[in-house]
Amino acid sequence: MSISFRKIRAKNRLINPFKDFSLDEIPLEIRFDPLTGQTGRVFDLFFKAERIDPSETVNRSEEMFCPFCPDAIEKSTPLFPPEIIPDGRIRVGEASLIPNLVPFDKYAGVAILSHRHFIPIEDLTPETMNDSFEAAQIFAERIAEIDSEIGFFSINWNYMPPAGSSIVHPHIQVNCGEFPTNEQRMQLESSREYFRKNGNTFWHDFIEAEKENDERYIGQIDSTFWMMSYVPQGFLPDIWCIFPDQCSIIDMGKNDINSFLTGLSKVFSYFNRQNILSFNMSVFSVKDEEHFRLNAKICPRLLPRPIGNSDQAYLQAVHNEPFCVRPPESLCKKVKEFFD
Ligand SMILES: [Zn+2]
Repeated sequence: MSISFRKIRAKNRLINPFKDFSLDEIPLEIRFDPLTGQTGRVFDLFFKAERIDPSETVNRSEEMFCPFCPDAIEKSTPLFPPEIIPDGRIRVGEASLIPNLVPFDKYAGVAILSHRHFIPIEDLTPETMNDSFEAAQIFAERIAEIDSEIGFFSINWNYMPPAGSSIVHPHIQVNCGEFPTNEQRMQLESSREYFRKNGNTFWHDFIEAEKENDERYIGQIDSTFWMMSYVPQGFLPDIWCIFPDQCSIIDMGKNDINSFLTGLSKVFSYFNRQNILSFNMSVFSVKDEEHFRLNAKICPRLLPRPIGNSDQAYLQAVHNEPFCVRPPESLCKKVKEFFD
């Protein structure tokens, strides 16, 4: 087993006006991702998010045209050509999957969760999300069937405007392509390299290491394992879910979708308790690679101060380096309460 949780610790020294101008030391950690080796910075600034009432945003969105509301969807959203999706759209229960007008990949779909224009985070239950995730899986399966060049799949979610969503009506996005994104490529190459060197998959060794370490491990829900990311991707710590038995969205059965959505709804309950009312989520998938495993990251998004500043700044935008103001280990127990 060769999982390493590498970090460099430093301290910034300053004369602190909040401590009677005495000499103070502020710790800094630079952490290395156990899979990809990518770095990120971790501080402990005792930040606590203020609750921001979403009703003003929701009211404003209701005054604007919403193409995803039931009376607009037929007239105002595109259809897939019949050779891609014979019926033009995929429907599962109240969910509809339609083409994405933003061409994020060779095949890009948007699955609208339901008829409800706004679903508060506390109402994102497995039942509420299930139809859209089933539609996303049907879409990925269909694309794999009609285009053998496609090797990369992802299911993605920007929930509410702080996470970059321009439409309040909840929807997830499915991208299928021949070329990976940077994150997909780093995961795939690092996973392959680990397998070549160690003869085991990274993913199984990593789950065991996190369980043993017991600082970030949250729990297991049937076929899914949940933990706080060692190198957080967000302003506040993000959560990582690993499926130890599957490499692809296409392999997911109804039970796997349900396990994932059960865990996801627990994460959302934790976010809600912490006043985090917006998030990004991605499920990363390949088509068929022996060493790779399906995994998902769920990253809190927020406007940290009353001026409405973004939680991402120059480090993320131009240095490609995340920073997090709370160590994930300091919050793990609080997340676990929702999983026990
Ligand atoms: Zn709507």
